[in-house]
Amino acid sequence: FPDPLAHASGVPAHLFASPEVPIERAALRDALRLLDLHAAARTLDPALGVDALALTPDLHRASPAPVGTALLTRGFLTPHLIGNDLGCGMRLHLTGLRADDLRPHLNALERELRAVFFQGQRALSLTGRQREALLRGGVPDLLAAPRPADQRGLWDLMGAQAREPAPHAPFVRGPLSGVQDWLGDRQRASFDTQLGSVGGGNHFVEVQEVAAVLDRHAAYAWRVRPGEVVVMVHSGSLGFGHLFGAQLRAPTLAVQGAPLPLLHADHSGVPGVLDALHAAAHLASGNRLVLACMVRAALGRALPPGLLDEEQPFPALADAPHNFIWPAGDGQWLHRKGATPAAAPSPQAPHGEPVLIPGSMGDFSYLLAGQGHPLALDSASHGAGRRQPRGAAMRLNDADLRRALETLRVVTPIDLRAARADVRARALSALQQEAPGAYKAVTPVIDTHARAGLARPVAALRPLLTVKS
Ligand code: 5GP
Ligand code: MN
Ligand code: MN
Repeated sequence: FPDPLAHASGVPAHLFASPEVPIERAALRDALRLLDLHAAARTLDPALGVDALALTPDLHRASPAPVGTALLTRGFLTPHLIGNDLGCGMRLHLTGLRADDLRPHLNALERELRAVFFQGQRALSLTGRQREALLRGGVPDLLAAPRPADQRGLWDLMGAQAREPAPHAPFVRGPLSGVQDWLGDRQRASFDTQLGSVGGGNHFVEVQEVAAVLDRHAAYAWRVRPGEVVVMVHSGSLGFGHLFGAQLRAPTLAVQGAPLPLLHADHSGVPGVLDALHAAAHLASGNRLVLACMVRAALGRALPPGLLDEEQPFPALADAPHNFIWPAGDGQWLHRKGATPAAAPSPQAPHGEPVLIPGSMGDFSYLLAGQGHPLALDSASHGAGRRQPRGAAMRLNDADLRRALETLRVVTPIDLRAARADVRARALSALQQEAPGAYKAVTPVIDTHARAGLARPVAALRPLLTVKS
């Protein structure tokens, strides 16, 4: 859809789509309704407005705004737009391990993953300084914070991180205003028990194999090799996102005619809002690191000695939030809800920004290189997208679902293969919304990105094993 979508506001709005990827009309209607923010903001102050709307190819209905939305505002923020799971994002680690070497040990890996994710004690206690470092400065600050001598295990693996992608969230500069509560005893305890949880539903941790390299130059530069094992993580800010979310929404104002509450950028509450937003994003990214290191630890235990030693680097190639608000200069704010940054090549990222678009537990996922399309507001899809809104009655019947899950390796809190029939049936119905049939085919979504110039495919990744809670 190269022409702007018509709307009374006159704000340029573009949908990136192709006939191969069905999009619900209702999702488009919900997205266009966001343009009513333009007139509403101007009643508050004529200098405010919406500058642009971009909709990515996985556009689908969600509350309070569709997944696949990028909204550029001027002089105001609309924090409700980005939903409850602040800082939710995708992350990818390289292992240097060959999938052929791992394949004979997948049963052992499955056992180790179930143990580390769902049965054992993660015992990830952070010191007060580490917690504060993580919330303020994200993973780089967490890794730089002083570490007690008795903090071992996962911490050794985290410390051995060779590279950390540049953080997408600026640092928290304020006094963690309004977020002080997490320093209390109760929050501290729940902080430590929450770190290392996958989160429910669409969140996942997946061990994948590089099935095909599609752009040899970018893959070479990023050290992604065909046949290599990689670890993809999709997770958000867990229960803490809700705590921070309340901070984010507190100073907003409901305005007549506006589909969502507004926050004037000059409002005294804005610095606190940004601190809460960044703290949530840092926490989410720290959790993705912990989850990836849990997989790394399980791999180390599942494989015979010599295949993956402790010193083998485990670098993160990409980590980006898809529910977040970025300052865009000149008083502008870029909101992304279920859309991921896909910036053009730059001196820091000469091949373009690494972009992750997962498919499903039964489909490919893709690594791409951002091309920074201006009409897409430098954005790309963050997934294949659901066929139907979450919670809608699924057409998939139990037999289909059972057959699908028998051919996939899914690690859930219970062992699907060994469980009693009734326990298994309950677990399967809980997975209904997550089965491959719940999502669109990803390859047409990727083709749409390539044809529209949003991002270039670099590698196709095939799932070997998926962890879902
Ligand atoms: P959403 O927030 O749209 O529900 O989830 C993000 C995207 O992740 C989905 O659009 C879907 O394509 C992808 N996804 C959901 N579950 C899985 C999974 O288990 N494995 C992989 N590789 N992708 C998934
Ligand atoms: Mn997400
Ligand atoms: Mn999420």
